[in-house]
Amino acid sequence: MKVHVPQTANRCCRGMLRRSGLSLGQELLRKSNLTGVCWFHTKAKMSRMVPARRLEGMDKNIWVEFVKLAATYGTVNLGQGFPNYPPPDFAKEAFVEAVGGEDTSLHQYTRAFGHPPLVKILARFFGKLLGQDLDPMTNVLITVGAYEALYCCFQAMVDDGDEVIIIEPFFDCYEPMVKMAGGTPVFIPLRPKAVKSGKLMSSRDWQLDPAELEAKFSQRTKALVLNTPNNPLGKVFSREELELIAELCVKHDVLCFSDEVYEWLVYDGREHIRIASLPGMWERTVTIGSSGKTFSATGWKVGWTIGPDGLLKHLRTVHQNSVYHCATAAQEAVARALERELGHFGAPESYFVQLPRELQRKRDLLIRSLVAVGMEPVVPEGTYFLIADFSAFKTELPELPESEEPCDSQFAKWMIKHKHLAAIPVSAFYSAPQKKNFDHFIRFCFAKEDSTLKAADDILQQWSREKAGQ
Ligand code: PMP
Ligand code: GLN
Repeated sequence: MKVHVPQTANRCCRGMLRRSGLSLGQELLRKSNLTGVCWFHTKAKMSRMVPARRLEGMDKNIWVEFVKLAATYGTVNLGQGFPNYPPPDFAKEAFVEAVGGEDTSLHQYTRAFGHPPLVKILARFFGKLLGQDLDPMTNVLITVGAYEALYCCFQAMVDDGDEVIIIEPFFDCYEPMVKMAGGTPVFIPLRPKAVKSGKLMSSRDWQLDPAELEAKFSQRTKALVLNTPNNPLGKVFSREELELIAELCVKHDVLCFSDEVYEWLVYDGREHIRIASLPGMWERTVTIGSSGKTFSATGWKVGWTIGPDGLLKHLRTVHQNSVYHCATAAQEAVARALERELGHFGAPESYFVQLPRELQRKRDLLIRSLVAVGMEPVVPEGTYFLIADFSAFKTELPELPESEEPCDSQFAKWMIKHKHLAAIPVSAFYSAPQKKNFDHFIRFCFAKEDSTLKAADDILQQWSREKAGQ
């Protein structure tokens, strides 16, 4: 499109207008909206402060907002997902040894796509889990946490105009990452089934409608993002559900980015099934994992992707031109910890056996606290989160001002400020059109010391007594 550029426009904006192909009016309006000032009357210097268009609408972040609130009001923090107990001794010791041991090379760069001991053990471990013979150098890529793994997937494989199917509720970063890659997110909700009165709902009661899911696939669909066990719901997708998703991905020739960071955290004898192990899926799936969840060490930020070389080579292109390399000592520690786990695989001493047992007990403690006060939890089959319906507590709030802000967000902020208990509003895990339909739940993290869960219980009991006395 030919753009009319007035002579009065300065050099910088003339070039920008030509490149963008937008009409002058639209561009000025966009800039004025972004900067909050009339851009037309600002100088060329100011226009440099306007961010790239791909950042539009991406400035808000639920974690930045709620981590700050939780710290400001000195809360019992069941909000952001991180354990407040330490990683297992063998993992901690491996990190200390990596940093303080004889091998000073661990303070320097290592292989860009993954420290050799780590990619080797991951190839052995996941080769066993996925039933594949994995090449450590081509089928594994180490990333700065699962965040970078996801970022590499979208940047490498999603092009302008591509559609990416996202199952709601979803871990919040999927939507901005798809958009920043130029793609269009297409959402499909998990729909809760009604349960018999007096019975607690389970995350299993939240299901996809197969016909609705199939209708989301189009000529433009490039990928589907799967997250099992799912954050925030705790749903562990069943084999039948995964087979349906796999069948559709194969039929429509769609990729699958499978975020499995909570793979070891499944309860009540449920089984975590890796979609890459289903027929026709290995060659189209990138499986994502994180040592943050695996070894209760979210600050280590060592993540990984496992997949066919044909896909991973493109992720490597993104990685080598952005992050290039991840902290060597942290990778060494994760390698040693995984080595230890492989040696105890399935045995009672295995951390992957012990951790879910311990977390199931903590889940049940929190469920009892919530039920006792009349918040209705959805019992999670996996992850270290649960969502709870706080409708019975809505009356507690003072008259809320008319606001675009979803009710759960207002409630969670009020609870932090007035009850000093932090949780995350579940609408943060929904697309804009669905937020208002799912704004009566808050998400609690139960990966906490028993003393923290007890402190939360005290707050809830006291609150409930005050509520009854009104
Ligand atoms: N995916 C999901 C579902 C998550 O909950 C998180 C947050 N821990 C991540 C990815 C990012 O993980 P990491 O901290 O390893 O970057
Ligand atoms: N994944 C964690 C959660 O869901 C934390 C994410 C973050 O802090 N960015 O709470």
